[in-house]
Amino acid sequence: MTKMVWYRSDLRTIDCEPLLMACRDEAPVEACFLACPKQWQQHDLGANRIEYLRRSLVELKKGLDELKIPLHMRTVQTFAEVPEVMLELATSLDCREIHWGREYEVNEIDRDRATRQLLEARGISVHEHDDQVVIEPGSLKTGSGSPYKVFTPFKNSWLKAVEASEELKPRRRPEPRKRKMAKVKKDPVPAGFEGFESFVEIDDWPVGENQALARMDEFLEQRAGRYGEDRNTPSIDGTSRLGPALAVGALSPRTCVDAARRQARSKPGSAAGLDVWISEIAWRDFYRNVLFEFPRVCRHRAFKPATEAVAWREDEESFLAWCEGRTGYPIVDAAMRALVATGWMHNRLRMITSQFLSKHLLIDWRKGEAFFARHLVDMDFASNNGGWQWSSSTGTDSAPYFRVFNPTTQGRRFDEAGTFIRRWVPEIAQLSNKAIHEPSQSGEALWNQGTYPEPIVDQSFGRKRAISAFAEVKQPQ
Ligand SMILES: Cc1cc2nc3c(=O)[nH]c(=O)nc-3n(C[C@H](O)[C@H](O)[C@H](O)COP(=O)(O)OP(=O)(O)OC[C@H]3O[C@@H](n4cnc5c(N)ncnc54)[C@H](O)[C@@H]3O)c2cc1C
Repeated sequence: MTKMVWYRSDLRTIDCEPLLMACRDEAPVEACFLACPKQWQQHDLGANRIEYLRRSLVELKKGLDELKIPLHMRTVQTFAEVPEVMLELATSLDCREIHWGREYEVNEIDRDRATRQLLEARGISVHEHDDQVVIEPGSLKTGSGSPYKVFTPFKNSWLKAVEASEELKPRRRPEPRKRKMAKVKKDPVPAGFEGFESFVEIDDWPVGENQALARMDEFLEQRAGRYGEDRNTPSIDGTSRLGPALAVGALSPRTCVDAARRQARSKPGSAAGLDVWISEIAWRDFYRNVLFEFPRVCRHRAFKPATEAVAWREDEESFLAWCEGRTGYPIVDAAMRALVATGWMHNRLRMITSQFLSKHLLIDWRKGEAFFARHLVDMDFASNNGGWQWSSSTGTDSAPYFRVFNPTTQGRRFDEAGTFIRRWVPEIAQLSNKAIHEPSQSGEALWNQGTYPEPIVDQSFGRKRAISAFAEVKQPQ
């Protein structure tokens, strides 16, 4: 009886439960992937993320070839077509059993429910696995049995579960199947990727599980010990940059946590940094848990419904200035220009730029969320939505609305010598370390030669305006 693995956001062969379960006996195994270009557009997935996905699929195919498992590619426009296409594929390959890793967003859940119903009605058994998280969403609850809304208690119970369960160890890669494979096409990628041409340097990112594992090992051995100190400085390469690999599932979070814990045991000196890094993986699980427990966040809704009444400003000019890095706040502008040019932004800068948009400019966080989604190579719905809702004080565990980052102070604190700013805002690169954070106030002649703008909003005015806009709506506890 032939079995099939439907790959979606778990493009790997190591620690891949659907694959391992499909390979648990001698039966032939097939694999498939469905490109969904219209759906990707509806979900704001941009060219950088899709090009990274395309390359990851090429690598996945190589890994599956070694296991003698053919990867079948199909293109559908939207999720609505998926059930029929999966049935047609399963029937044509004579598959009676299908495995896939669960996705937790509402459209994905609806798609899977419909697919499952159709397949089961035709006698094909479906097996779903929780494989893009360390701990299954919905399984951790507070003492009173409610879903977690705050990160720290979630993390404490998450850590306890990780320590307690052998189940959370990474799964092995299955043995190659005993079968002959037809000669494979060199580039297996289906139609559906046209129109997503990326212009950023994707080569900088590890693609496929072998490169991702090598990057993880390098990071854990050489840099993770200092992660606690280095992770907030954008000019330092202090983070793992594994986000894209985790987003497409070329690397599993279980593997990350297991490797980090082993490293902490073998090198106790680096344990503090490794613990902080493990917490970041817990944040990733936390935001998946949030969207599973509160699916309204998938429907462009605020986690705190009361904050939907905030009077966001319509101000296209300021929004464009933010998108293009022309706000007159050097750290914001450097970050936004880096995002557009490279498809990536450092976490500290994601926090600064998202607060600047939603607070100082009082522009709806959803516009910023969509802009990030269209540019980030590591775009991940749960983390992007969670990060935006955190910054704009509409989300779980979010920044209290009256605590607003001052972008100038943040720049001074996390890019003290202006190293990052100088790289991305060359028109003010000549300014002193002090002046570079506040060119218009510096009195230094060089800053404004018609090339770098005055601040588009006064910091203190913007802050007060945001606080009163939030104070006007009823804030839930
Ligand atoms: C407004 C905003 C938008 C964001 N959008 C995304 C997004 O689309 N995709 C994404 O993966 N992360 C997002 N993040 C979280 C975080 O900024 C990135 O995960 C991190 O910068 C990626 O860098 P890294 O791969 O070097 O991670 P590291 O610092 O090495 O951390 C390891 C991994 O942990 C996870 N992680 C780290 N920090 C967070 C966090 N705060 N929340 C959730 N997961 C985290 C990521 O998978 C990351 O790759 C966003 C944060 C904010 C404030």
